[in-house]
Amino acid sequence: MRKLPAIGGGTPAKTTPFTREQRYGEPELQHLREALEQNTLFYAHGKKVRELEGVIAGMYGVPHVVACSSGTSSIHTAMIAAGISPGDEVITSPITDAGSVIPILWQGAIPVFADVHPTRHVITPDYVRAVLTDRTRAVLAVHLWGNACEVDALRALCDQRGIVLIEDCAQAWGTTYKARLVGTYGHYGCLSLNEYKHISCGDGGLVLCNSDEDAHRARLATDKGYSRTGDQRDRNPTFLANNYRMTELQAAVALGQVPKLNAIIARRRSWCDRLAAALCELPGLVLPDVTPGCESSWWFYMFRVHAEALGANVDKIAEALQAEGIPVMAHYIGRCVYEYPLMLNHSPFARGDHSFGSRNYGPGICPVAENLLQNCIVLPIHEGFTDVDLEETITAFRRVVEFFTEKRIV
Ligand SMILES: *Cc1c(COP(=O)(O)O)cnc(C)c1O
Repeated sequence: MRKLPAIGGGTPAKTTPFTREQRYGEPELQHLREALEQNTLFYAHGKKVRELEGVIAGMYGVPHVVACSSGTSSIHTAMIAAGISPGDEVITSPITDAGSVIPILWQGAIPVFADVHPTRHVITPDYVRAVLTDRTRAVLAVHLWGNACEVDALRALCDQRGIVLIEDCAQAWGTTYKARLVGTYGHYGCLSLNEYKHISCGDGGLVLCNSDEDAHRARLATDKGYSRTGDQRDRNPTFLANNYRMTELQAAVALGQVPKLNAIIARRRSWCDRLAAALCELPGLVLPDVTPGCESSWWFYMFRVHAEALGANVDKIAEALQAEGIPVMAHYIGRCVYEYPLMLNHSPFARGDHSFGSRNYGPGICPVAENLLQNCIVLPIHEGFTDVDLEETITAFRRVVEFFTEKRIV
């Protein structure tokens, strides 16, 4: 006899907790010890930040990497280095972390939103083209949940217009597009090392730079406009910068994490591929498509619920999966970035004007993205997930989907 789901009176499919391994260990401790023994934790005097930048530059095959304090600060650093200024328009995704949009606003620039592909969930060159104007100065392409934007086409579009492409790779460590790592297509590629990303040092960020001048400005942008490394020592800021410095401690932990990255991505890929192979046989679930040419690094697994086919809406399905012990989240960020009160009310500061005040934000700007958020469920992925975790997750989905579809037919 078919087993009932937990919401129908059965026992939860997940009988053991999801496996999450110890993330930090000996390699991080070793680097931390070395950092402390330097007797300085300042990037310009110690070796760890420089070593981390070198390792990441080698891994990505870019000439320069500038380390900073967070993913948000890496994007802000790229915006400053790219010369984004008040009144400029910057095109980005309506579905992303607030950390993508905050730097645009700090530069006094105007966020403009391009819609997303319905099943790939990333902005497309067509949607970007549709919102380009004479005031567009940059495109911030967000590689959402580890899937890639069509960055070659976006770069060509930006080059044609003489504007800057910045890639937000915070969720896309190790993602490739046409056999090349994302983050290397743009003028700048931005990475996050926050607690939730593929690898972490608590908080941290990295800016991949493709030219010496870009890297020099990015470095100044993270250190109050001071130049403290290389031949050009100079403490006379010429533009507005921040203190976004990474410390030797963060770099030490990150150095312990980097060698683990390939295995982390491989395990996530394998787990998600096997999950997708099983879920695609269930009715009523619209599974994510990876952009053709992309190998996703699967930050999380986001799929859509077809409410009519299932006879239950997204909240009911999420609730039923949670009852099975599957930690899903309905609606991801809940609403598009342009529906945040900050955006609707144009309230970045307590008083005064900001150039984005001339623009109306609210529902209707990106219908595909809005529809997606109304109907999506996110399953957080961890590289420690085992075969048992996979089997029990699939069982949970199967019981829930069968329960709702049959109930509807009766
Ligand atoms: C996490 C994230 C950021 C911000 O990174 P922080 O390190 O938290 O500042 C920016 N963009 C995206 C897409 C993210 O997922």
